[in-house]
Amino acid sequence: MRRREFLFWLSAFYLNLPVWAKDGQFAWLDLAQTNKFYGENAFGRIGSLAKLITATALLQTKAISSEQIFECRQTYKNYNCQIAHGKINLEQAIGFSCNVYFAQAVCKLSFEGLATSFQQFTKQSLKFSGGQIQDYALGLHKNLSLNSSQILQMFAMIARSNNYLVLKQGLKLAVRQGTAKNLDRANILDISAKTGTITEAKDGPHFESWVAGYFPSENPKYCFCLKAKNGTSQESAIPLAHHELFSRKWF
Ligand SMILES: [Zn+2]
Repeated sequence: MRRREFLFWLSAFYLNLPVWAKDGQFAWLDLAQTNKFYGENAFGRIGSLAKLITATALLQTKAISSEQIFECRQTYKNYNCQIAHGKINLEQAIGFSCNVYFAQAVCKLSFEGLATSFQQFTKQSLKFSGGQIQDYALGLHKNLSLNSSQILQMFAMIARSNNYLVLKQGLKLAVRQGTAKNLDRANILDISAKTGTITEAKDGPHFESWVAGYFPSENPKYCFCLKAKNGTSQESAIPLAHHELFSRKWF
């Protein structure tokens, strides 16, 4: 290889390097060992991980049925999606993390209904301090901040239960075709997961992101959670979690 080609290759290699481990806080639970916690505990607003809490509130209060369709034309009030998802149901809204679906569906949900579901998953009360219900339901509000341990407990509750069927289907869809599809493309670990991205107001736009889930999807043995300090879930949380998940021997 000529020197110029080599330098070109080298620079391309570095430019394409993802933000590696120092920017991601990875934690997991071994469900067989009564929820033993391993790894690093992160904290922050949970973004779209909250859609699992919201979906549960919508179903438990009968605000919607699981088969109810809402149309995503990319924008509803101040809430946007990256693409128009079209006419979708709750499972698809979880798998593709459709903000517009949830922003519309929660018009029929009371704050108390959401708070009850939040308490059920996190053992913590959710305080109302102004703003739209959508800000809480989409996990944008600071009152929806959790640490990794609480997020892992939430996923453990879903993983262990015989209920939450729509949530489970949505989490599986996210990894097969949706927002977490680059987490396990070959479906080696049979993961179910949800992503979340938050914008932090610093000097200019700054993104932080999460991905959390469990595997295998049937009879789960582990729950995991990763917070990326920089970047969206696609840029950071997913590649970092992929690296963490596939650099360990689980079974
Ligand atoms: Zn959408």
